[in-house]
Amino acid sequence: MDKISIIVPCYNEEKALPDFYRAVSETADDIPGAQCEFIFVDDGSCDRTAEILSGLTASDSRCRYLSFSRNFGKEAAMYAGLQNASGDYCVFMDADLQHPPELLKEMYHVLKTENYDCCAGLREGREGDGKLRSLLSRTFYRIIRRFCHLDMGDGKGDFRMMNRAMADSILELKEYNRYMKGIFSFVGFDTKWIPFRNIERSAGESKWSFRSLFRYAVDGILSFSTVPAAMPGAVGALLIAAAVLTVVLSVLFGGGLTVVPMLVSLILLLNGIQMIFLSLLGQYVSKDYMESKKRPIYIVKKKGGF
Ligand code: UDP
Ligand code: MG
Repeated sequence: MDKISIIVPCYNEEKALPDFYRAVSETADDIPGAQCEFIFVDDGSCDRTAEILSGLTASDSRCRYLSFSRNFGKEAAMYAGLQNASGDYCVFMDADLQHPPELLKEMYHVLKTENYDCCAGLREGREGDGKLRSLLSRTFYRIIRRFCHLDMGDGKGDFRMMNRAMADSILELKEYNRYMKGIFSFVGFDTKWIPFRNIERSAGESKWSFRSLFRYAVDGILSFSTVPAAMPGAVGALLIAAAVLTVVLSVLFGGGLTVVPMLVSLILLLNGIQMIFLSLLGQYVSKDYMESKKRPIYIVKKKGGF
C-alpha cells in the first residue's frame, strides 16, 4: 500500500476548510492501492483555522498539522509541509477547492502506470480571477520564460503530485527566497500535465493583493535569473553609442543640441534609467544578504497528530 501525503497550506481558511476536508477526505478514501495522510500547515492565520485543524487532527488519525508563529507565506508553508510529509507520493493542494480533488486519483494512476515522476494540474481559463490579474499574470510568465529559461507558464500552478525522489530533491534546496514554481522547474524530472477548469474559490477570499502579487512576481524573476543585473551594461553601451552619434551628427549637420529644456529632460531621463538599474542591483545584493543570514524559512508554534 502506497502512502500519499496531501499538503495543504492554509492562511485564514476557516470558511473553506470544512468543505475542503469533506470533499478531499472522501476522494482520498477512494484511491485504489493508496492511503492518504493530510499535512495541514496553518501559516499564521488570525481566524479559527488553527482551532479547526486541531479538531480535525483529534478526530481523524490521517490528519496532522503545523501552526506557524506568524504568516511566513505560502512558499514557506509548502516547504514545511513537504519536510513533514512521510508519503511515497506528495501532493500540494490549496484549501479553497480550486484544485479539484477528483484529479488525485488520476494523478496517482499516472505516476503508478506511466513513466513520470510528477503529475501536475494545468489550469485552463481563469473564471475565478479578475481580468486585470489574468492579464498581468500572462505578461509575467512571458517575461519569466525569457529571462529565466524555466518551464513555467500561466496555469502551471502548485497542484502537483510527485514521487519521493522529486520531493527529496526539492527539500535539498535550502534557499530562503523560495519561489516554488521556479523550484519545481529547476529540479527537473518528467512531468505530465493534466488540464482542469479553473473555478471560483469555495469560500473566503483570495489571500493575494496586487501588492503581494507584484512582490511575488519580482521575487520569482530575481530568484532565478541574473539577467536583469547584466542589463545596465548593455543599456550603458547603447547610451554611449547614442551620445557619440548625436555629437557626430550635430558636428556634421549642425543640430539643435543647445536647447536647454532638451538637456534637462535628457539628464532626468538618464538618471531615471540609472536609478532603475541601481535598484535592481540593490535587490540582488539584498537577496544575498537575506540568504547569508541563514535564517529559518519558518518557525513552528504548535504541532498536532505527529
Ligand atoms: N496561503 C498561505 N499563505 C499565504 C497566502 C496563501 O498558506 O500567505 C494559502 C491559502 O490558504 C490557500 C493557498 O495558499 O490554501 C492559495 O491561496 P489563495 O487561494 O488565496 O490564492 P489564489 O487562488 O487566489 O491564487
Ligand atoms: Mg485560491
